[in-house]
Amino acid sequence: MEKATYDVILVGGGIMGCATAYYLLKADARLKVAILEKDPSYARSSTLLSDGNTRLQFNVKENIQMSIYGLEVLARFGEEMAVDGERPDVAFRRQGNLFLVDEDGRPEAEDGLALQQSLGCQVEWLDPEDVARRYPLYNLSGSVGGTYGPLDGTMDPNALLMAYKNKAISLGALYIQAEVSELTTDEDRLTGVRLASGERLSAGYVVNAAGAWAPTLAQTAGFDLPVQPVKRQVFVFETHTRPDGFLPALFFPSGLYLIHEHGGQFMCGKSLADDPVGYDFSWDQAIFTDRLWPELLEHIPAFDRLKLASGWAGLYALNTLDGNAILGEWPGLRGAYLANGFSGHGFQQCHAVGRYLAELILGQAPSLDLSIFSPQRILENKPVFESRRRLI
Ligand SMILES: Cc1cc2nc3c(=O)[nH]c(=O)nc-3n(C[C@H](O)[C@H](O)[C@H](O)COP(=O)(O)OP(=O)(O)OC[C@H]3O[C@@H](n4cnc5c(N)ncnc54)[C@H](O)[C@@H]3O)c2cc1C
Repeated sequence: MEKATYDVILVGGGIMGCATAYYLLKADARLKVAILEKDPSYARSSTLLSDGNTRLQFNVKENIQMSIYGLEVLARFGEEMAVDGERPDVAFRRQGNLFLVDEDGRPEAEDGLALQQSLGCQVEWLDPEDVARRYPLYNLSGSVGGTYGPLDGTMDPNALLMAYKNKAISLGALYIQAEVSELTTDEDRLTGVRLASGERLSAGYVVNAAGAWAPTLAQTAGFDLPVQPVKRQVFVFETHTRPDGFLPALFFPSGLYLIHEHGGQFMCGKSLADDPVGYDFSWDQAIFTDRLWPELLEHIPAFDRLKLASGWAGLYALNTLDGNAILGEWPGLRGAYLANGFSGHGFQQCHAVGRYLAELILGQAPSLDLSIFSPQRILENKPVFESRRRLI
């Protein structure tokens, strides 16, 4: 049987695979692009298990620029991604994000704020009194203030993913349910993939967009990525407090976060040092009752009565070098492209990443230079840290 041949194969049909396919076909509709996804239900894909939050509040310039571009895309998303007149709605709630700052974190927060403002971002400093006046439910004890981004917000990850997937398919992408067992190579060139079924597909370019499974895939082509699957848990609860409208999402210096969903419903989580590494999707409500709830109560006494409604566990594809994306061609293996290691902030970066990878593959000058995240930095051991204090 003749081997199927593609210009580009995306391994993984999560938000990175689908967004990259879209940007490739938007640039050149003649391309033969295949998205290979082992589980189209996306039950374990990080995209669907994410909180769907986007923020301008980063400390690395390129991360801020990626979010700026993401907001531009979201502003015209329904129109741009319409298929047969159906406009997708990602239910973007611009509720704002409020990052609380303690004394130790103040210099870093001030640097970040100055950088964000210099790039034209609408982000401001709030003193504890400002926060108490605006959001009486929140108590900033232990904080010296916070940085508030009113344009930040939260959306429906499934709706965003389906929009990119459907649009890419409408432009000609082939979406195939298949598990890739191996990247195939010939000396210094990637030649395609072998499927679990044994079938081989060839391609000029293959993008590893396999999320938390990316390191295993990379190993089949003979290289190691500093990426680990790390379990993160989310908890959704109902309180008797029912704030009007939407409160901003709160991000505590400890890594605890709280997102107001609607009415009395909130969602929270925290990256814990003892979160297990591996493909573990078990959900443990004791993490909430024993560890997260007591910490929340210190700041929001009105949460003394609540009902845990639901939750889930998902995986961060944690970049253990520096917590940031790994983007571009793997040095020494032509055609092997990476969209990996997004840690806790890949969902919001899909727009800029999809466009960047498409431009690199097509040999076009990047609209936004993201070479700071090139895989070369792994070989040179030159981390790009977002925060001096922790990986987020
Ligand atoms: C609890 C949690 C909360 C988060 N919150 C946010 C947030 O608020 N904001 C934010 O920006 N980011 C957030 N993230 C991070 C974000 O979810 C990820 O960075 C992003 O979704 C990564 O997308 P992806 O396409 O790389 O991975 P995925 O969505 O995991 O997609 C990878 C796909 O590859 C498929 N695959 C894997 N191996 C193979 C193979 N061999 N063959 C075929 N298919 C394969 C998988 O089935 C999967 O569908 C969160 C993550 C978690 C876990």
